[in-house]
Amino acid sequence: MALQNGDIKDLDDLFVHTLRDIYYAEKQIAKTLPKMIEKAGEGPLRDAFEHHLEETRDHVKRLEKVFEMHGVEAKAVKCPAIDGIIEEAEYLIGDTATTEVTDAALAAAAQAVEHYEMSRYGTLVTWAQELGRDDCAGVLRETLDEEKEADAKLTQIAEDRLNTRAA
Ligand code: ZN
Ligand code: FE
Ligand code: FE
Repeated sequence: MALQNGDIKDLDDLFVHTLRDIYYAEKQIAKTLPKMIEKAGEGPLRDAFEHHLEETRDHVKRLEKVFEMHGVEAKAVKCPAIDGIIEEAEYLIGDTATTEVTDAALAAAAQAVEHYEMSRYGTLVTWAQELGRDDCAGVLRETLDEEKEADAKLTQIAEDRLNTRAA
């Protein structure tokens, strides 16, 4: 990690560090989603991943905008949490035998990613406001809303599968 203990002295430092953490995470997600799209069967899950890949590219750009607005360098710092979530996803997906199980594993992995992002963006919105940066908060909230929508969409897909089976 780029920052040593003690380098984060105030809320502003923490805000910038967390921006760089989620910047790294978004870039890793943008790299991983194409692999998940390839693994997913044709259908709503693949469509949802394709849609969210487009959004994820916007998330990267929005973060670059916030770095610029805040007057700091757009730099990524390694986020061990997202690396772990992705590693776990790759392990799960590598071992599934049927399309149905693969899709269930992919959807579960994707929801873990969305929840990580929701927690980070939720925090960043609050800190931006605390720092008097409502402008930055507004941009970050746009992404937060899209992560929430992506998560809700994945829940919907899982519920539809359940209903199809019960019918
Ligand atoms: Zn995102
Ligand atoms: Fe992190
Ligand atoms: Fe996301």
